[in-house]
Amino acid sequence: MPENIYDLIIIGGGPAGLTAGLYATRGGLNCLLLEKSIPGGQILLTDVIENFPGFSKPVRGLVLVNEILEQAKRFGLNIESDEAVKISHLHKDGHRFIIETASKKRLKTLAIIVATGATWKRLGVQGEEALISKGVSYCATCDGPLFKGRDMVVVGGGDKALEEALFLANIANSVKLIHRRDRFRAIQELQDRVLDNEKIEPIYDSVVTEVCGRNSVESVKILNKKTKKADIIPCAAVFIFIGIEPNSRLLKEMVDLDEKSFVITEKNMKTSQDGIYACGDVIKKDLYQVVTAVGEAATAAFNAQKYIEELKGKAYS
Ligand code: NAP
Repeated sequence: MPENIYDLIIIGGGPAGLTAGLYATRGGLNCLLLEKSIPGGQILLTDVIENFPGFSKPVRGLVLVNEILEQAKRFGLNIESDEAVKISHLHKDGHRFIIETASKKRLKTLAIIVATGATWKRLGVQGEEALISKGVSYCATCDGPLFKGRDMVVVGGGDKALEEALFLANIANSVKLIHRRDRFRAIQELQDRVLDNEKIEPIYDSVVTEVCGRNSVESVKILNKKTKKADIIPCAAVFIFIGIEPNSRLLKEMVDLDEKSFVITEKNMKTSQDGIYACGDVIKKDLYQVVTAVGEAATAAFNAQKYIEELKGKAYS
């Protein structure tokens, strides 16, 4: 019986992985997408997206990802619910890979696209870990409604923190937005809307030093970095949006990563390892947006296909 070797395995089922899958199956590759939970990725935790071209009105993260999923399935994308846990070379020649999965499968493939995305960074302060799901949250859409009518804290000064503070202001009694500098990093339009919102009170130059509460969040301790004055803010929930960390552990021994563990790619989305491509939030880049992730995914699939056809001696040159 001939060995079953996929042309391409895509790891991760967010917008980048699904788009790579759409392009690869439409291009005729024998392709499998592995997703450890449900397709969608971080975008499922996003309330609305306002800057994805083609949608004149804000679109819900869930709606956008379902559209991409349906489109990819229409071209026959094969999706398995399983987690890739190890990548290694099948032969010494380096032209085939084995992906071991959490369900003990050993999948063989000619090429890989890694689209494992990123996860929200933790503050790393006392009380944070212990009170996760008890008021500490990294998803306003998921957990915000649980604290309807209560006082809430949002930490961060980027697009995400301001977007989610605006969402929470519709539900909360009050939102205190704590940022470590004297101005926000987020785009001006979000800053204007936050400053116009009477439910949101920005607290600048301040860091959270502890999340307090016995069985659930009761308050946060903050420190003003300029005045060195400490304060306690009573609240029922703390939403933390201080940036992202790449999910690149799987590639640690395989490809070059930067000092923050983001995957380094070339212009064609190839990593330092022939046959392995990467796209989306897991890579080092200037702009982390859905629109950039899907563009990189199309480029990764296009170049992975060229690589696979060259391996098979079928390249159109
Ligand atoms: P971000 O732009 O990196 O901003 C992180 C914020 O958290 C910054 O204001 C940073 O402060 C602050 N911060 C970092 N570490 C901290 C710490 N230990 N304690 C306190 N504050 C800390 O991250 P993001 O807002 O989460 O967004 C992540 C990426 O997704 C961004 O590139 C963003 O543009 C993108 N995004 C895209 C969309 C979309 O596609 N529509 C929507 C939302 C976000 P400093 O400013 O002092 O560094």
